[in-house]
Order: sequence, then structure tokens, then C-alpha cells
Amino acid sequence: MTGRTRVGVLALQGDFREHAAVLAQLGAEVTLVRRPAELEAVDGLVLPGGESSVMDKLARAFDLADPLRSAIRDGLPVYGTCAGLIMLADHIVDGIAGQESLGGLDVTVRRNAFGSQLDSFETDLAIPVLGDPPVHAVFIRAPVVERAGTAVTALATLDDGRLVAVEQGNLLGTSFHPEVTGDTRFHAYFLDKVRMAL
Ligand code: GLN
Repeated sequence: MTGRTRVGVLALQGDFREHAAVLAQLGAEVTLVRRPAELEAVDGLVLPGGESSVMDKLARAFDLADPLRSAIRDGLPVYGTCAGLIMLADHIVDGIAGQESLGGLDVTVRRNAFGSQLDSFETDLAIPVLGDPPVHAVFIRAPVVERAGTAVTALATLDDGRLVAVEQGNLLGTSFHPEVTGDTRFHAYFLDKVRMAL
């Protein structure tokens, strides 16, 4: 195959610049996606962290929500972190009134699952698909996956058993933010999925 892997980062809101920087560091050709035409030109897409209810409103206002749903249904590889994972979930618990997701991942995700007693924290997670060493995971007002369908593979759980990283076909989701740690293995894993889907 010639040329670099073309990956988009949904750039409506949130920490899309951090994702773009990691993907570029890994050699991908990165497009910030704000319009349907930009979505059509990429072979994979990252949904960043941020605020899922705002991302949802903006995606609808920019006429991107339905094109995103179609792209996901057609098999576009998509990686969602934190708010991005919420966007990928088929069901959201504790969304704001009227909040919609894009869906695709057969999971139920609870927003802000760690509540005010533990807004943000960091921990090391063993993630077998990424090998050693463990991944240093940063959680910021993070969701957890409360239910996962049979087609969903669990990639990482907290010590208490709560599910925080999942994969289903071309879709990948993490409750935490690998884009802020300097550990590029999750993005490299995603780029492999994008290349394999081509
Ligand atoms: N709590 C945010 C939401 O509901 C997610 C936080 C994040 O992406 N760091 O969308």
C-alpha cells in the first residue's frame, strides 16, 4: 500500500488537537473533521474527549450526526475516548435531557460514573492486547461501560471490575485519555485496525 493512513479527528469540541498530534506523530495523515465532505475523505476517525452533550448538539447542528451514523454502520473504524466513547454507545445513562449518541457499540455507558467524590484520577491498567508495561490511564469525569453485548470484547477493567475499554468490530472505546499521557500504543492499535480495514 502506498501513502499514509488517512485518519480524521472529529473537531467540533474537546481535545481533538491532542489526538491529532499523537496520530501525526505515528505517521498518519490527519484531517480535522467538521463537515460531511471531510468525513468522506478519511479511512478512520477518532472521537475525542470533551463534553458528549455539547458534541452531540454540535454534530446535529453541523449536519454531521447522520453522516457519522452511516459511516459507522458502513464499517468505518472509529476510536472514541471518554466523551467519544459516550458518542459511540448505543445507550447512555445519565445523559442530559434529549442527549443522543451516534451509537454502534452495543454497550450502555454511564456518564460521569465516578461522581463528585472522585472526579478525576489516574491508575495503571493491564491491557493484554497492548502487552507490557501496563497503560497509565487518566480518567477525567469519565464514563464506565455498565453493560456490554456479546459482540463486545472487554479490553480493560478497573480493580473493582468496572469495564473501561472495549472493542467491537471496527469500533474501539476507552473511558480514559491515552492522548494526554505520551503512551501512543492505543492510537497505534487503532491505526492498525484502520489499515486492516482498507
Ligand atoms: N463527562 C464528559 C461527558 O459526559 C466526558 C468527560 C471527558 O471526555 N473527559 O461527555
